[in-house]
Amino acid sequence: MFELNEKIRDLTPYDPITGTYTVRLDANESFLSLPDDVRQELGQIASSLDYRRYPDPLAKDVCAAFGAYYGVDPACVAGGNGSDELISILMNAFLQPGDAVITALPDFSMYGFYAHLAGGREVSVQKDDSLRFPADAVIETAKRENARMIVFSNPCNPTGQGLPKNDVRRLLQAVPETLVVLDEAYMDFWDESMLPEATKYDNLLILRTCSKAFGGAAVRLGFVVGPERLVRAVRAVKSPYNLNSFTQAAGTVLLSRRDAEKAAIETIKASTHALHEALCRLAEAYPVLEKVYDTCCNFVLIRTGAADTLHRGLLQKGIAVRRFPGYLRITAGSEEENQAVTAALQELLAADTEKEGQA
Ligand SMILES: *Cc1c(COP(=O)(O)O)cnc(C)c1O
Repeated sequence: MFELNEKIRDLTPYDPITGTYTVRLDANESFLSLPDDVRQELGQIASSLDYRRYPDPLAKDVCAAFGAYYGVDPACVAGGNGSDELISILMNAFLQPGDAVITALPDFSMYGFYAHLAGGREVSVQKDDSLRFPADAVIETAKRENARMIVFSNPCNPTGQGLPKNDVRRLLQAVPETLVVLDEAYMDFWDESMLPEATKYDNLLILRTCSKAFGGAAVRLGFVVGPERLVRAVRAVKSPYNLNSFTQAAGTVLLSRRDAEKAAIETIKASTHALHEALCRLAEAYPVLEKVYDTCCNFVLIRTGAADTLHRGLLQKGIAVRRFPGYLRITAGSEEENQAVTAALQELLAADTEKEGQA
């Protein structure tokens, strides 16, 4: 019998919640649908593609559109089938078996997953109750472990916390021989991006995505930005046709609508603010919601001993949020969706308090 090897023996396929939920606030997607004129443009693209031809392996047009949107040199940009694929490519490219990769937890779970598959060794630092990025502990651990890579999201999913540019610069300078992978998936909602300095450091790669602020998760489009020497290495390692022709053309459209994009981001930020306020009010009334964290992203994290019960109760009411041990993460939705989730939480919390009163 063919035996699975040790590194994949215990893996299970990624299991996003299935089933139909009327309110989906579990995956940090944009709650804004693409406008009709954009959909029409995408339809035209789909109907006029030359399906016989392989896509452009360098994805020149969409990298140029990215460069124009963010003011970076397209020669320093490479595209991926979602930034998720890029994380996998970076791990495979820059790690050798046994190399140490430093993470600070909680953070995006795919870092550890892909590091492991690439034969790397994840060494993680635990964040304290503030959930802020522990820059000093990370530097110290990277030095001790002779780390090849430090990877983290900024601002962070799932904590919502952001690390200011000055601290990122300090980190980069403290570990000149370690590659720092800075995942800025949510940076469109904050303004401490290192993109303007992406090529100033020879040990920095920045990841961006069209899946969150741009409302294009279905398209699967992410980018890596950094000094040409590193980006060339990424291009050399990735599979040549990782970005299909539709994705390249659709991404070019999404990235050319600057004003509409900026307006959408403001709308999502306002929704996040409203959700945060509503959850803080709930937490005042129900101390089982121990802490509602501030956020630089399009979601709000709550620390609560009742995470499991509340998660289950919400699902029963047709509302999906993300649960972690001891935490709930709720993506900002439309006004109606935010109201639905806060009302449902209130109901669950009130019922629970009543039960306690009777006991
Ligand atoms: C959602 C998310 C991604 C994945 O983005 P894709 O481009 O859709 O693959 C990457 N990093 C973080 C931190 C995320 O939350």
